[in-house]
Amino acid sequence: MSIDAVDVIRTKRDRGELTDEQIDWVVDAYTRGAVAEEQMAALAMAILLNGMTRREVARWTDAMIRSGERMDFTGLDRPTVDKHSTGGVGDKITLPLAPLVAACGAAVPQLSGRGLGHTGGTLDKLESIPGWRASLSNEEIHQVLRDIGAVICAAGAGLAPADKKLYALRDVTGTVEAIPLIASSIMSKKIAEGTGALVLDVKVGSGAFMKDVSAARELAETMVGLGVDHGVRTVALLTGMDTPLGLTAGNALEVRESVEVLAGGGPADVVELTVALAREMLAAAKLTGVKDPADALRDGSAMDVWRRMIAAQGGDPDAPLPVAPETQVVPAPASGVLRRLDAYHVGVAAWRLGAGRARKEDPVSAVAGVELHAKPGDRVVAGQPLLTLHAADPTRFERAMAALAAGVEVAADGGAEPLPLLIDRIGEP
Ligand code: URA
Repeated sequence: MSIDAVDVIRTKRDRGELTDEQIDWVVDAYTRGAVAEEQMAALAMAILLNGMTRREVARWTDAMIRSGERMDFTGLDRPTVDKHSTGGVGDKITLPLAPLVAACGAAVPQLSGRGLGHTGGTLDKLESIPGWRASLSNEEIHQVLRDIGAVICAAGAGLAPADKKLYALRDVTGTVEAIPLIASSIMSKKIAEGTGALVLDVKVGSGAFMKDVSAARELAETMVGLGVDHGVRTVALLTGMDTPLGLTAGNALEVRESVEVLAGGGPADVVELTVALAREMLAAAKLTGVKDPADALRDGSAMDVWRRMIAAQGGDPDAPLPVAPETQVVPAPASGVLRRLDAYHVGVAAWRLGAGRARKEDPVSAVAGVELHAKPGDRVVAGQPLLTLHAADPTRFERAMAALAAGVEVAADGGAEPLPLLIDRIGEP
């Protein structure tokens, strides 16, 4: 039976269910270039508008996994477990988390991406460490995992190539926000990566893809179902992203804060989420009776793994991090309680300062970003420093300030309760 791209588009446009054959064909033909970009754009929009059944999402994910290579870590002497965050502002958690979980006995193959738009990317952050290299061969990934227990590096071009092409198309056609497409995009890469267990950090709030808890829960349930169906023990935490995590958003600034956490300090919310995710990862890897992550932060063992992990990828863990030549303080606009310091607005400000990119090929500034001096709920006095903006180029301050204007609110009292940091957990106990 021959399958035609227009028939596949019409089926989904008319709210029909795609057959397994249609899904396998369209994903493969698109990856090979036999389905045109405009046809896949129309199909992605039909999926965004009309959704997919659980069977369709599972098959779509399978087809994306089969578009490329699958990694295999089963030869390691310890269980593998990975974490994926759906992305937020100031979300540097991967940096302390991967070495922390390795210090407690698991192997963490963390194949990461770069930032796009207002959310930062793990690789961009680590590249602010002098000498650190994101691209490793498959042999090097295995070697670092064997020797050190944690590796954070770029996902190779061979992993789910269908997703690379489709994600770039979704980005320019207003179809990123479709839950079946987000779930299959994330899970195809994580399943192809070959991890035995996976913990998902699904962000909810102004700085996240998912602005409300019910959409985030639907995404989390879809991804957990896909993981479990593929034999990957998967759980998800829903976590708040109405305000940035920690006190920094920007590449070198976030590395500095991550090192503070590994040294046993750091902001309370970053420590709380890092430890909560680490405990989930150890449980998902079925590692019981091992060192508790809070102890591994206190006793320096997580820091030891960090230093070795950075050095194994050419980085100098003792080198000073780059510092912005230009800073500008943003004062509190009034006295009272800081009600809102909106993650989205801070993310856009950091991006405009140079920390993020608008297009995949754009360079990022290591030094640019936003430093917070107060968090929502804190009392502030008019004129006290609320934020410090960091940039390589002072002409960027004006547009960053404009982005922040609608994201800061100081009032006589605290107002409605903010979203908690840990909102819910989805998956087997
Ligand atoms: N991250 C991904 O990898 N894919 C998406 O679709 C959204 C976020």
